[in-house]
Amino acid sequence: MDKKKTYVDSHAHILSEEFQADLSEVEQRAADAGVEKILLVTTSASEAYRGMEFCGKNPERYALAYGIHPEDADLADEKVWDEFVRIAHDERIAAIGEIGLDFYWRKDNRDKQIDLFIRQIEIAKEVNKPILVHSRDAIQDTYDIMKEHRCRGVMHCYSGSPEMALEFTKLGYLLAFGGALTFKNSKRAKESAAAIKQEYLLTETDCPYMAPVPVRGTRNEPANIPYIEKELAAVRGEDADVLASAIIDNYAYLLTGVRNG
Ligand SMILES: [Zn+2]
Repeated sequence: MDKKKTYVDSHAHILSEEFQADLSEVEQRAADAGVEKILLVTTSASEAYRGMEFCGKNPERYALAYGIHPEDADLADEKVWDEFVRIAHDERIAAIGEIGLDFYWRKDNRDKQIDLFIRQIEIAKEVNKPILVHSRDAIQDTYDIMKEHRCRGVMHCYSGSPEMALEFTKLGYLLAFGGALTFKNSKRAKESAAAIKQEYLLTETDCPYMAPVPVRGTRNEPANIPYIEKELAAVRGEDADVLASAIIDNYAYLLTGVRNG
């Protein structure tokens, strides 16, 4: 008998306010869709602590990440930083993120963002955990920093060029693709997704944002991963089952840093 296809959502914000009212239904729909592994990304210390409790109830399905988002660079005073370091060391935290650079919204605090990014990478290295990298309108700076401060992890919601995509994989980073991949005008994301080796691919929703076609414009959720993975297989001209099992392996690699086989 065929094994049911299973999926990974490597970047979900289901502990955010948008899901408070119906989180258990969202979880159930994800399970029904075969989304067996979900990496929960939290953006504040209090959300991270809630995540520890939440993930503890189902550690097979959920892993947890926390990082200081580049948009919050100005809020990262000593207190926020000390708390971040404490949480990063907690064994219930699997990954550090999302961290990175965002010059789309703000460029005036560029130096502050860069400093915060580097300091968080250094902590990730210290605790031997992967980083989840957010990069918007800042791909070259992001790359330069990641080349100099070598760690492991994933480029979340990758939107750079295919050439740059290959450069990130040369540093050992995975690239995650989400709902944007299914949009008609996302030529670059499709080209990047087609350009890299299968062993560097991940799927993500970044929910509640970026719902894929055919549910574009609605609140996104982990149950939508199959739409994204279907597009990924089509863009790459690959067998969907083979791709699905590769992505499960890639996700395990992201979390452990060890390739099996
Ligand atoms: Zn995110």
